[in-house]
Amino acid sequence: MIDSFQHVGSLDELATMAAICERCDLCETRTNVVFASGAHDADVMVVGEGPGQQEDEQGIPFVGRSGQLLISLLAEVGFERDDVYIANVVKCRPPRNRDPRQDEIDACKPYLRRQIELVDPTVVVTLGNFSSKLLLGTTTGITRLRGQAYEWWGRHLVPTFHPAAALRGGQRVKDDIRHDVGLVRALVDGRIQADSEPEAQTLRSPDTATDEQLGLFGTSQP
Ligand code: SF4
Repeated sequence: MIDSFQHVGSLDELATMAAICERCDLCETRTNVVFASGAHDADVMVVGEGPGQQEDEQGIPFVGRSGQLLISLLAEVGFERDDVYIANVVKCRPPRNRDPRQDEIDACKPYLRRQIELVDPTVVVTLGNFSSKLLLGTTTGITRLRGQAYEWWGRHLVPTFHPAAALRGGQRVKDDIRHDVGLVRALVDGRIQADSEPEAQTLRSPDTATDEQLGLFGTSQP
């Protein structure tokens, strides 16, 4: 199986490939491949876990309740939906919204990597455990990871809770996402520097070894 789509020169070409993809078993149960939405030159790229039922039906990411919550929180700091490039770790819906399996994540990973390369965002926002652990190459959970920005392959990465957790967890989780989205705004505006204070705004590298990141994304930067 091809592990790199480095040769693919555009997001449209990549989306065309994904639309007929059969690299993993999720192709057998999907209605639509949910490739991405938003500006191809966005400053901010949001990476979720995988499509839900409504996303699968419409072929568009984050159109369900949790997606609407995320869009409203981004809008509070001035990001409209189309300003932000939105994608998922897996492009096809896992049946009954189960967690994606490792073999499915591995099969779909080259799409995400090439999306990041082609969009070339200033800030990547990972939602929940799957995308945060995958991109940061860590086993640390999202509760410990979130609340700050990380230096990541020459750009910034802000992990936060998945908005579905806010729908379940109430106002505190929603406020935590709101805080993290504020960090994204500050990074895009250049208001946070690598050694800036307070602590919650400090950029730092993840705790884990770079080797793990290389293992996830190959031998060159995403
Ligand atoms: S989840 Fe990704 S790898 Fe699997 S069939 Fe869909 S597009 Fe292909």
